Amino acid sequence: MQDLSRIVTDIAAEMREAPDRGTVADYIEPLARVDPSRFGIAVIAPDGSEHVAGDADMPFSIQSVSKVFALTLALGAVGDQLWKRVGREPSGSAFNSIVQLETEHGIPRNPFLNAGAIVVSDILLGRGETAETIGEMLRFVRGLAGDEAIFIDEAVARAEQDTGFRNMALANYMRAFGNLANPAERALRVYVHHCALAMSCRQLARAGRFLMTGGVIPETGHSIVSPQRARRINALMLTCGHYDGSGEFAYRVGLPGKSGVGGGILAIAPGTASIAVWSPGLNERGNSQLGMLALERLVARTGWSVFEPRGG
Ligand code: GLN
Repeated sequence: MQDLSRIVTDIAAEMREAPDRGTVADYIEPLARVDPSRFGIAVIAPDGSEHVAGDADMPFSIQSVSKVFALTLALGAVGDQLWKRVGREPSGSAFNSIVQLETEHGIPRNPFLNAGAIVVSDILLGRGETAETIGEMLRFVRGLAGDEAIFIDEAVARAEQDTGFRNMALANYMRAFGNLANPAERALRVYVHHCALAMSCRQLARAGRFLMTGGVIPETGHSIVSPQRARRINALMLTCGHYDGSGEFAYRVGLPGKSGVGGGILAIAPGTASIAVWSPGLNERGNSQLGMLALERLVARTGWSVFEPRGG
């Protein structure tokens, strides 16, 4: 294997030249104005070494990548009970699709679809206060990353809230099936705020470390989830983390990964690396065009795919 820092630097240089950068999400103004030429990458190893290049320290809207952290927190709160209200199967549908909800009685296919993440937000809310739940989520992510500077971009949250008619429809539809305990507005307030978390690649890769090391933050030794739960969250990321592009992501990259419409992707090479990439241009499935290409190249050069034979 070539030197990791070199690989990461080379990939960032290659991405600077890439002609097809995809299309920046334009459904809300704060995302539409992000510069499409941005690219960042951060790779963190279990020994704490960090390899970064490009715009790795520039915060961006993590959007649906936050669904991994929300799921982790909700599983901690209610355990496997959660699976009575959310499935664990890939959907083959767009992230904001409503079609399966009717035939499947308001139970979303998986926790990474918008509908699934809205149920997870409702679970996080429990019987508590909206503002406290949002605060708890922010503290959780700050704790995972070991960085108090991580913040929620209120302009993004407000814009999502003002234009989130489809998410509102999903939430109300699930409430009609009895799969939402709180009013749709409250569950959505939690949802849009965790989607509005602003983080850099370095912060995101740090926040994902517990998934590379069987549930433990290597730096502190603090256990976040059991090894079994870490494995299972990784399995869900592999099968469902890129919506109807999950098969393609497994084929090209071969790592558990979670994308967001802000152009970020968190990918985990179990035992080996926590990786975050960011490039705001998206492909037709709403996944980062260059983020995926960069991960494909990283895995090709390191042999980190989970489908790679392990030497004995
Ligand atoms: N906040 C976005 C939405 O609800 C998240 C979607 C995503 O990142 N795929 O539409």
